[in-house]
Amino acid sequence: MNISGWGRYPAIDADLYSFESEKEILAHMGASHEYAARGLGRSYGDSSLARHILTSSRYRSFLHFDGQAGILTCESGASLEEIIDCFLPRGWFLAITPGTKYVTVGGAIACDVHGKNHHHDGCFSECVESIKVMLANGEIASCSKDQNEELFYATCGGMGLTGIILEASIQLIPVKSAYIDQTTIKAESLAEVFDLFEEHIDSKYSVAWLDCLATGEHLGRSLFMKGGHRIDGRLEPDKKKYMSVPVDMPGFTLNQYSVKLFNLLYYNRIMGKSKEDVVHLNGFFYPLDNVLHWNRMYGKKGFAQYQCVIPKEVGKDGMTRLLKYISDNKRGSFLSVLKLLGKKNRNWLSFPVEGYTLALDFKMDDTLLNFMNELDSIVSDYDGRIYLAKDSRMSAGFFKQSYPMLEKFRSYRSETGAAEKFNSLQSRRLGL
Ligand SMILES: Cc1cc2nc3c(=O)[nH]c(=O)nc-3n(C[C@H](O)[C@H](O)[C@H](O)COP(=O)(O)OP(=O)(O)OC[C@H]3O[C@@H](n4cnc5c(N)ncnc54)[C@H](O)[C@@H]3O)c2cc1C
Repeated sequence: MNISGWGRYPAIDADLYSFESEKEILAHMGASHEYAARGLGRSYGDSSLARHILTSSRYRSFLHFDGQAGILTCESGASLEEIIDCFLPRGWFLAITPGTKYVTVGGAIACDVHGKNHHHDGCFSECVESIKVMLANGEIASCSKDQNEELFYATCGGMGLTGIILEASIQLIPVKSAYIDQTTIKAESLAEVFDLFEEHIDSKYSVAWLDCLATGEHLGRSLFMKGGHRIDGRLEPDKKKYMSVPVDMPGFTLNQYSVKLFNLLYYNRIMGKSKEDVVHLNGFFYPLDNVLHWNRMYGKKGFAQYQCVIPKEVGKDGMTRLLKYISDNKRGSFLSVLKLLGKKNRNWLSFPVEGYTLALDFKMDDTLLNFMNELDSIVSDYDGRIYLAKDSRMSAGFFKQSYPMLEKFRSYRSETGAAEKFNSLQSRRLGL
């Protein structure tokens, strides 16, 4: 079938094998070709793409729940949505969640995803107690932070390149409400939004939406949002109906004018300087999930997300240069999200380093890849790096320069035979 990541660029023809048991995976692995693993395909680029793909879509049972400790053991294809639907009414939520709940536990571990609380709680691997992985030779190995550590540090953030993640035990957090106390504050400039992140550093969750086309003294104007779990005892699911983008939108619908208009309306959706709300956690954590198939908005050619992190000491300077370059080139992005990241962890390829991360979506066209290379050179000047879960085009050179544990990861893959069995378009492009 023709298949792509969430950005729909690149798309390739591939054979997809959906497995339901370890035996079925083993049967496939006996074949002479190499595989990429795939969950729900929510990584944007080519990390889950290969000629042969093993997908966990039918391997998603909950295996055990320790109701005292809040530890869930499940198969890797279980989605965050399924976990929330089952455990939120019982008073448990995910310790770390990305901006969509349509991702699998396997995908969350392989990308070592982060959420709006990275500055407090780190990446997804922080809540992973243990993992079971099927290695290239068909053996099944367990690993955790204190057992078989190398496999754990290579697999969390390792983009599915150490083996097939079969099961994981993850720590959930107790919550007393399905609602979040949210405060939204208008920031007139980039300097102001950086100050807000620092001022509200004690807030469990924080994020800012940026108007990336604002210029001059308004460069970086944003809506800063912070939040924390309520304690009102209401654990009900969200009753909101989902909308859907039914077909591919014509490519011209998205241009600098429509983005400018959207940004203006969005920025002015709060009247005063700040606003307090009580919102369901679906709306707080997963606003984009309310519109199903929203990736069709970018038309048939798809889009690419650019997510970089710039170390904290130079974060403001680096982001100023990036935003200036983007607005000078009139490259609109509906989604421009800024987050504060906390300390880096011990995983070899996890993305976060202490600093600020900016994520932007750009419609694919003939000039986009060159434009993104220019963004890379700015990020490189500040010792920043790009997030593999969003990448579809980074050069092997920039990747090597910005991920210092690459050689260790490569050697590990050679020693364990993974380099011959597990590969994606991305791993080939980046020399992983
Ligand atoms: C709207 C939206 C918002 C997002 N927000 C965030 C965010 O806030 N923070 C963040 O960190 N990410 C975010 N993401 C990215 C997303 O969380 C990650 O890409 C996630 O890993 C996708 O999970 P998946 O199940 O769809 O995996 P896929 O996209 O299918 O695969 C991703 C990677 O995981 C590997 N993989 C998948 N399953 C297995 C398995 N069983 N064994 C071994 N390897 C496996 C694949 O080989 C691939 O390398 C967002 C994505 C979208 C679409």
